Amino acid sequence: MAVATPYTEKTDEQKAICEMVHQFADEQIIPNAEHYDHEDTFPEPIVEQMKELGLFGVMIPEEYGGMGLDLTTYAMIVEELSRGWISISGIVNTHFIGSYLLMKFGTDEQKQKYLPKMATGEIRAAFSLSEPECGSDVQAIKTAAKKTDDGDYEINGAKMWVTNGLLSTLVFTLVRTDPGAEPRFKGMTCFICEKEPGVGENTGPYTGFNVPPKIKKMGYKGVESTELVFDGYRCPAGNILGGEEAGLGQGFVQMMDALELGRVNVAARGVGIAQRALELALRYSQERKTFGKEIAQHQAIQFKLADMATQVDAARLLTHRAARLKDAGERSDIEAGMAKLFASEAGRFCVEESFRIHGGYGYSKEYEIERLYRDAPLLLIGEGTSEIQRMVIGRKLLQRHKI
Ligand SMILES: Cc1cc2nc3c(=O)[nH]c(=O)nc-3n(C[C@H](O)[C@H](O)[C@H](O)COP(=O)(O)OP(=O)(O)OC[C@H]3O[C@@H](n4cnc5c(N)ncnc54)[C@H](O)[C@@H]3O)c2cc1C
Repeated sequence: MAVATPYTEKTDEQKAICEMVHQFADEQIIPNAEHYDHEDTFPEPIVEQMKELGLFGVMIPEEYGGMGLDLTTYAMIVEELSRGWISISGIVNTHFIGSYLLMKFGTDEQKQKYLPKMATGEIRAAFSLSEPECGSDVQAIKTAAKKTDDGDYEINGAKMWVTNGLLSTLVFTLVRTDPGAEPRFKGMTCFICEKEPGVGENTGPYTGFNVPPKIKKMGYKGVESTELVFDGYRCPAGNILGGEEAGLGQGFVQMMDALELGRVNVAARGVGIAQRALELALRYSQERKTFGKEIAQHQAIQFKLADMATQVDAARLLTHRAARLKDAGERSDIEAGMAKLFASEAGRFCVEESFRIHGGYGYSKEYEIERLYRDAPLLLIGEGTSEIQRMVIGRKLLQRHKI
């Protein structure tokens, strides 16, 4: 169902890709999401089809086997996937952040080694900053790496909330390498930590890299979120992102750069879930009757639909603006923060309004809106909470407009 005027400035290629992913969501994701959500199991058959469609290599350059598309097109794809189910976009999103880190900061050797397999989805990537005792305050991380006599780095500590933590092969992990560094962020390094996918207790070269059972969550099911425990895990110096010489002490800056993309990414997910909530509300409100007429004919319901559609379009425009600025190489820190803040809140707002329009049925697992209601709040938290977005936007605004 075509709803909410779509942002029409799409190239022919973007239109074709979006139509393809839209259809994929309608035919493969939406009809199956309830099952995987209920079982909280990994949607393997959907992921296999995504590999065939090339969706794990959207921004990876063609020379490494990817599609070589830009962030704007990627955001459009993420919106379509999230309209289907945000867990599906979650499976690609940390992978995308990992591939961006490699493309921007990786050595030639690192790119050659990992990007071709990442482009096909043969190996998948996770991204790990958060720890049990810190999330917003990234500079407070405690996981630490020390150089050993044989030149490797030994990593010890615990990470928290790692999306794709179990089934990934690579985890881009932020680790403290110089505990005395001032300012603190200069003592942090990003390690490309390898492990066996799907294995809780790793052995052989990956000994000391353990993945406890997945965290049970209210929503965002199907894709696993895990803790990671590093207990004497040996990581070769060659797996420092960008190489030891260039990459040591650069991890925080690299990860923050990637987070800017991550924010556009989450914003696109907010647009997708908001769009789906609106579609469900438009349909239900024309089916349900009260007081002798369709509820869509009550002005109070029309006002809700109007507010939802306005939020969807505004969120989409902000998201595309941030993506386009980044694609053009322009500064986009404020814009990415605004897009993430607005679109994730729009996702929550539209889902709640749609839930209200569904009346008692919205509370039933028979209706899709029930799942959206449990999924939407994640977007307020991941890649920085709304409070943190406001802090970033406020701080950067003052920097840009210093008197
Ligand atoms: C399902 C899920 C998946 C995730 N996936 C990943 C992942 O793949 N990789 C990863 O690294 N992390 C991941 N995260 C972690 C996520 O990024 C953090 O949860 C988030 O950054 C918030 O950190 P926190 O939970 O430690 O909250 P805290 O930092 O403890 O914050 C608690 C509350 O205080 C507020 N607050 C904190 N500081 C301030 C301040 N200075 N001013 C005002 N308010 C403040 C916050 O906004 C929040 O409301 C995931 C989280 C979830 C729930």
